[in-house]
Amino acid sequence: MSALLDLRGVEASYGASQALFGVDLQVREGELVALMGRNGMGKTTTIKVICRLLKNSAGDVAFAGQDLRSLPSHKAAQLGLGLVPEGRRCFTNLSVWENLYAAARPGAWDLAKVYELFPRLGERADQMAKSLSGGEQQMLAIGRALMTNPRLLILDEATEGLAPVVRQEIWAAIGTLKSTSGLSILVVDKTISELRRIADSAVILERGRSVWQGRIDALTSDLRNKYLGV
Ligand code: ATP
Repeated sequence: MSALLDLRGVEASYGASQALFGVDLQVREGELVALMGRNGMGKTTTIKVICRLLKNSAGDVAFAGQDLRSLPSHKAAQLGLGLVPEGRRCFTNLSVWENLYAAARPGAWDLAKVYELFPRLGERADQMAKSLSGGEQQMLAIGRALMTNPRLLILDEATEGLAPVVRQEIWAAIGTLKSTSGLSILVVDKTISELRRIADSAVILERGRSVWQGRIDALTSDLRNKYLGV
């Protein structure tokens, strides 16, 4: 079966400064793939290339059989890429439900389903986004991406900077998404223990190159030491 998302030999630059030198990455339908690597190795840059936020790139990027490199970012989103960006951007001066409603596109995900996944958002539906905690803002950012009814959910730094108890809630929700909705998910995070529990496979980046790709249970402690420093 061909992959839903398929990157081959991707290179990318910020102006004259090259950041990616050859990234291969595949996400199949219903699969949860962890994109891993130490700081500055190119994870966010890879996501920017996928979402067409960084256009100075080469190589093949296909999504649902379409060449993404010919499309502007809003068209790529319309094909079904749901991005939860680093820094969990929401409209701070809108309420929780307004944030969700503004993102809505037709499909199975609606306000009720998002509130079911994140009951705290339902309890705070009329509250301004700026008054939410960091963890609640991340839930809202995930909720906004789900409201677009994506085929692939992309989470950059899913739990970075959050309190341990909130991290658990986010991981539980990602686990639920995987098991009950069959959504394809690409996640960047450093919490290896959680990724090992819920991811199917991993891709490791080192200095802008994919250097290892395989089933998450094949990620031995030697490999983790070598590439992730843990
Ligand atoms: P982190 O885990 O720290 O977020 P990362 O793996 O996501 O790291 P990237 O943010 O993709 O790494 O960075 C890859 C390389 O590109 C780094 O060398 C970084 O300094 C460089 N880079 C990132 N953003 C820019 C930018 N806006 N302009 C120039 N260089 C950049």
